[in-house]
Amino acid sequence: MDKPIIEVKGLKKYFKTPHGMLHAVDNIDFEIQRGKTLGLVGESGCGKSTTGRTILRLLEPTDGQVLFEGEDIADLSKKEMEKKRENLQIIFQDPFSSLNPRKTVSQTIMEPMIIHKLYKTKAEMMEKVLEIMEIVGLAERLVNTYPHELDGGRRQRIGVARALALNPKFIVCDEPVSALDVSIQAQILNLMKKLQKELGLTYLFITHDLSVVNHFSDEIAVMYLGKIVERAPSEELFANPMHPYTTALLSAIPVPDIHYKSERVILKGEITSPIEPKKVCRFANRCEYASEKCHTTEPELVEITEGHYVSCFLEVVEAAKAKKAQEA
Ligand code: SF4
Repeated sequence: MDKPIIEVKGLKKYFKTPHGMLHAVDNIDFEIQRGKTLGLVGESGCGKSTTGRTILRLLEPTDGQVLFEGEDIADLSKKEMEKKRENLQIIFQDPFSSLNPRKTVSQTIMEPMIIHKLYKTKAEMMEKVLEIMEIVGLAERLVNTYPHELDGGRRQRIGVARALALNPKFIVCDEPVSALDVSIQAQILNLMKKLQKELGLTYLFITHDLSVVNHFSDEIAVMYLGKIVERAPSEELFANPMHPYTTALLSAIPVPDIHYKSERVILKGEITSPIEPKKVCRFANRCEYASEKCHTTEPELVEITEGHYVSCFLEVVEAAKAKKAQEA
């Protein structure tokens, strides 16, 4: 297998608060192969957006490494990072608030080109703007319109176009369709998938909604309170979820069948504080299977079958771990 384009190793992002250190991202590891999508899923506040921003160094990491094409970008100076950012872009959740209302479509797409001095003349830049607009399905006649004159779908197409302006290789997609109507969600997801195929893009796709990443991601990582609790190829995760939190998230996906009897898992119990958390299972207060061990020991993320990682003390997980160890 080729070397991954992105490797995240022991990444931490802590924030100082009056009550102690908030562990927003706490020692996570993953990698993404070139041209593939990793879906990062979890409830709001679990640290998934902070992970995306820390990888791009929009937030400075507290510790850990982020390797882009084998180079640790967590160590680059600000100037070196600025240059590197041409390859590393982000699409934000809310297209309206992430766009400058005083800038037209062309000015918005041009902005990163001007900052990175990518083209010598305005004519060259305009040619590229029109090319990108065509790629993302924005009609040329919209070139001088402002964000408020466009609907949500078109605004998000500008967000995608802006991210493409510097010909990036890797894009963090931070809930890119959550603020859109369902019909428009599908259009944007299809567009992103098409662009990935045509331009060889690699995505980290962040969402709270597992159903959105189902057909979109090659692999899915489930995050809970700053930790990755399960990671597996998408099909495997849907067919064989092992962590109780993943099972609860999957049970919340609506099924379009009036005869289907929902077995939704309703999570009860208090959410553990992310401030100076103890070395225990962070899900223990809400887990119906929690044992004493879960309240005293922290489970590690361990590979139980090829490419399927789980951090849990459940018997079935322990048995899979033992089987894998025996085979090794
Ligand atoms: Fe539940 Fe224990 Fe597994 Fe945590 S380690 S998810 S508390 S069974």
